[in-house]
Amino acid sequence: MYRTHTCGELRLEHTGHTVTLAGWVQRVRDLGAMSFIDLRDRYGITQLITDEHTSGEVKAILETLGREYVIQATGKVRERSSKNKNISTGDVEIELSAINILSPSAVPPFTIQDDTDGGDDLRMKYRYLDLRRGYVRKNLELRAQMAHAVRSFLNNEGFIETETPVLIKSTPEGARDFVVPSRMNPGEFYALPQSPQIFKQLLMVAGFDKYFQIVKCFRDEDLRADRQPEFTQIDCEMSFVEQEDVLCTFEGLTRYVFREVLGQEISDFPRMSYSEAMERYGSDKPDIRFDMLLNDLSDLVRGKGFSIFDEAGYIGAICVKGCSEYTRKQLDELTEWVKRPQIGARGMVYVKYNSDGSFKSSVDKFYPATELAKWAQKTGAEPGDLLLVLSGERKKMQEALGTLRNEMGNRLELRKKGTFSPLWVVDFPLLEWDAEAQRYFAMHHPFTSPKPEDILLLDTRPGDVRANAYDLVINGVEIGGGSVRIFDSALQAKMFDILGFTPAQAEAQFGFLMNAFKYGAPPHAGIAFGFDRLASLFAGLDSIRDVIAFPKNNAGRDVMNDSPAPISREQLDELNLRLVEKRS
Ligand code: ASP
Repeated sequence: MYRTHTCGELRLEHTGHTVTLAGWVQRVRDLGAMSFIDLRDRYGITQLITDEHTSGEVKAILETLGREYVIQATGKVRERSSKNKNISTGDVEIELSAINILSPSAVPPFTIQDDTDGGDDLRMKYRYLDLRRGYVRKNLELRAQMAHAVRSFLNNEGFIETETPVLIKSTPEGARDFVVPSRMNPGEFYALPQSPQIFKQLLMVAGFDKYFQIVKCFRDEDLRADRQPEFTQIDCEMSFVEQEDVLCTFEGLTRYVFREVLGQEISDFPRMSYSEAMERYGSDKPDIRFDMLLNDLSDLVRGKGFSIFDEAGYIGAICVKGCSEYTRKQLDELTEWVKRPQIGARGMVYVKYNSDGSFKSSVDKFYPATELAKWAQKTGAEPGDLLLVLSGERKKMQEALGTLRNEMGNRLELRKKGTFSPLWVVDFPLLEWDAEAQRYFAMHHPFTSPKPEDILLLDTRPGDVRANAYDLVINGVEIGGGSVRIFDSALQAKMFDILGFTPAQAEAQFGFLMNAFKYGAPPHAGIAFGFDRLASLFAGLDSIRDVIAFPKNNAGRDVMNDSPAPISREQLDELNLRLVEKRS
């Protein structure tokens, strides 16, 4: 037996017991007559001590110990004279009577403690050492608890957990596919799934009724803090349901996981249409923990001789409470901030509604106080508030204001961690016009059903057709999305046509789904949650990397095993692949 207890288990009630622990040496402090060793495992840290009663043999072994040695230690539990309130075992220590080195360790490249001295790159390279740190591991423990809660809820609701293949045919969902060459079929490729979308729909045709899977998905996209080339979804599909049934079931799931894992009750899941979200929050994933809503000032401010506003398609403002005292320097800095290419405003107009009731704005020349008072009224501003105004193309400026709103929310600390405000964004547009490609793309995916009342518009104003599609948003993060599916082959064929597929292309890409629909497809709908995002939200982290055991870096590389990597000539030959010289 390697151990009788874990390093997180011993308490005062164990005093006098002889125990054996096993773990990693975090630290040895040699004070001459006495030595202290912090022994760590997944469960905690226990202090081992030696003093004048300890045998010479034990002391000799102790001298050879280094950080991160794996040892087995036996001794008697005793009460500590100076207790450590910061750790669960801080009331006790172990008088060492025997010690056994199970595995020595090279000097680790960084200290394995919560406040480590290792930089990001080094910790990624030695991720297995980073994972030894309680701070990192606890995020993965949280993730495991969440997965368990998800499974338990969905099992109880009668969902069948079903694995779908990882080597599939390319299914366009908006991103690029990762592809895998087939050795046995020269010149042909599998794709890794961007999601199991078509398979889960086929499972509905197969009569599974309720399917789920916690599943790896792969998208070859540029990476950001909340994106990884491989990520995990909680993927679900249900038959004989309408949108409302899906929303209710997944509200239930979300509530359950919050309750089981964080002990938090989520009371409300308001619904907001996409158009309202864009108008009022400048985002299809609004953070509703705070107000600071967008106000359309277009009608109020045009025609007063200020050409920038007169020529703009949209003029919108947010009211920042209590910030009328912002200095020139702060306002200049904010103006530069909104002019960054990611945000894309040309400039920013401000209005200070001073505490004494007077106004000071950057457009005083065109708008006297009587006009500015109307802006204040429209935006609900009170003395002491600051209005920030952007103008330009409608959608672009709404989004820019939405980004500014979030930024001001951050600066004013209105986006409190640990407060969770979910909502459903519904009624997304079915299609999105791509000016470059001069064609429509499906906003969600090609299998999403239009709202029945909008179907007639498909022929005349396809851009106005709304979809039975929905997103779950929590604290400004898109946690999940899904839709009611088309289950009628004729409507599906029409969708492919609108999306620019010829019947032959549609047949080649999706023939098997269309064919399946000929054999009795039930009405069905589904959703997928981004599990990594949900986990990082629960953990209060900004990046999903910290809730993934072995993540990739921003360049999509695994720096620990140094992949992707070239393959041998023989492998290439076998796969019928030839490398083309890199273009410079
Ligand atoms: N397959 C979709 C996605 O990955 C989700 C869904 O429609 O169920 O976003």
